[in-house]
Amino acid sequence: MSLKVYNTLTKRKEDFVPQEPGKVRFYACGPTVYDYFHIGNARPFVVFDVFRRFLMYRGYQVIYAVNITDVDDKIIKKANNEGVSIREVTQRYARAYLEDIYKLRILPPDVNPRATAHIDEMIELIRKLFENGYAYEVDGDVYYDVGRFKDYGKLSGKKIDELQSGARIEVDERKHNPLDFALWKSARPDEPWWESPWGNGRPGWHIECSTMSMKYLGSTLDIHAGGEDLIFPHHENEIAQSEAATGKPFARYWMHNGFLQIRGEKMSKSLGNFLTAREVVKRHKPEAVRLFFLQKHYRSPINYSEEILSETENALMRLKHVLENIERTLEGKKLSEIEEKDLTGPEKQRWESLQKNRLRFIQEMEDDFNTAGAVGQLFEMAKIANRILEEEELSENNQKILKFIHRTFHEFDSFLSLFGAEEETGVETGTFNQLVNILVQIRNDLRAKKEWALADEIRNKLMESGILIEDRKDGTSWKPVKKNKNN
Ligand code: AMP
Ligand code: ZN
Repeated sequence: MSLKVYNTLTKRKEDFVPQEPGKVRFYACGPTVYDYFHIGNARPFVVFDVFRRFLMYRGYQVIYAVNITDVDDKIIKKANNEGVSIREVTQRYARAYLEDIYKLRILPPDVNPRATAHIDEMIELIRKLFENGYAYEVDGDVYYDVGRFKDYGKLSGKKIDELQSGARIEVDERKHNPLDFALWKSARPDEPWWESPWGNGRPGWHIECSTMSMKYLGSTLDIHAGGEDLIFPHHENEIAQSEAATGKPFARYWMHNGFLQIRGEKMSKSLGNFLTAREVVKRHKPEAVRLFFLQKHYRSPINYSEEILSETENALMRLKHVLENIERTLEGKKLSEIEEKDLTGPEKQRWESLQKNRLRFIQEMEDDFNTAGAVGQLFEMAKIANRILEEEELSENNQKILKFIHRTFHEFDSFLSLFGAEEETGVETGTFNQLVNILVQIRNDLRAKKEWALADEIRNKLMESGILIEDRKDGTSWKPVKKNKNN
C-alpha cells in the first residue's frame, strides 16, 4: 500500500507523491517565543515529529524545517511588561522551547530558522511582490493586495466577498481592501526595527514563514503543516505571498492537526485555560504524553484531563512491562529466526496473528498517519506476549515469537519514541563528549575575551545539565556529576 495523506487544500485523502522521488521537503510552523509552550501547542510538535520519522523509516530522505518566530506583537508586549529587552524574552523562551521538545523526545528539526536572522530575505521577497504588482505602500507600511490574487481563499474555502462583509474586519481607509494584510510594518516607538526600502520597520508574521520555508526547502514544499487555527489567515496568506512571488504552487500537501481541548474548550493562552508542556512532563512521563497524542487521530479533537493522562501512563507501563518481561525471559539466550514451516498449533496461530498486526500497523500509519489504529496493534501484540509469558513451559518457538515481538516494538519505536531508554537518543558517548569539549572551548575563548557573563552562563547551564567544569592552572576539565533534582 502506498502512503495516503489528507490534504486540506483538496479536502480529500490523496496518494502521497513528493515532487522528487524519495525526497520530502517538510515545513511545520513553529512557536512564537514569548512564553513556555502549552500542552496544546505540543500536539503539532509531537505528531509531526512522528510523521517525519515515519517517512524516514519508509526510506524517504526528509528535510524537516520548523521556524522560530522571534519578532511579534506578543513578544514586544511581554518585554515591555517585564521591563526587559526583546532579546532577553526571545532567548529565554527559544531555549525553553528547545529544552521542552528534547524532554518530549522530539528530534531536533534539520533546520530551525529564526525570523530575525532572515530579515534581508524577507525584504527581498516583499520587493519581488512589488515587482509582480501584489504589494503597495502607505506611510511606510506595506500591504499585500489580496484582490490581485485570484486564488485567494483556496485553502480555507473562504470567499473574498463573504470575508469582506464579515463583521470582524476593521475598516482601514488606507487599505485597498479590508482583507489586505501587512507585509511590513513601519517602526513605532519602543519596537524593534530594521532598515528597508520603505523605511524602518519590521516584517509581518506571514511573510516570515513564506521566506524561511522557501529559503530552505525551495519554491514548492511537499508538506506544509500546522494547527488548524493556522489555516486562515496564516496559511492562506502564505500561499498568496509565495505563489504571487514565484508563480509556482507553494505546497503540495497541507496537513493540519485538530485542537487539544480542556473541559470542552480549545486550550489557548488567551482563554487562560492552559497547562505548560513543562508542567505536564513534571507530573507525567514524556512518553505517556506522546502516547496520549498518538492514541487519537491527529485531525480529531483531543481532550486533556489528568485522569486521561494517568490512564495513558498506565497503558504505557503495561507495554513497557511486557518488553521488560520478554528481556528477562530471553536473557542470555541465543535464538535463531523463526522457521515458519516448524510452527504448528497455537504457535502457528500466534505467529500469523502477529504478522497481521505488524502489517496492519504499517497500513494504519500509511493511511493518513492513523497512529491511533497503529498503536492499537501494539496492544494486540502485547496480549499475545502476555499469554506466552504466563505459560509454564516456554517452547523454543514461543521464545522466538517473543523475540519477534520485542524486535517489532523497537523497530516501530524508531518513530514512536515510547519505549527506548534515555541513552537511546541517537547521541553516542563519543559525540556527546565532543559536544561538551566544544562548549568548554567556546567558554575558554569567551573568558580570553573577558566576556564573563556569557562564559558563566555556559558553566551554569552545563552544571544544570549535570556537567561540572573545573578551571585549573593547567587548563579546564569537566566531569559528569549527579544532577540536582530541583533543576
Ligand atoms: P503558536 O505558538 O500559538 O503560534 O502555536 C504553535 C502551534 O500550536 C501552531 O501550529 C498552532 O496551530 C498550534 N496550537 C495552538 N493551540 C493549540 C491547541 N489547543 N491544540 C492543538 N494545537 C494548537
Ligand atoms: Zn507559519
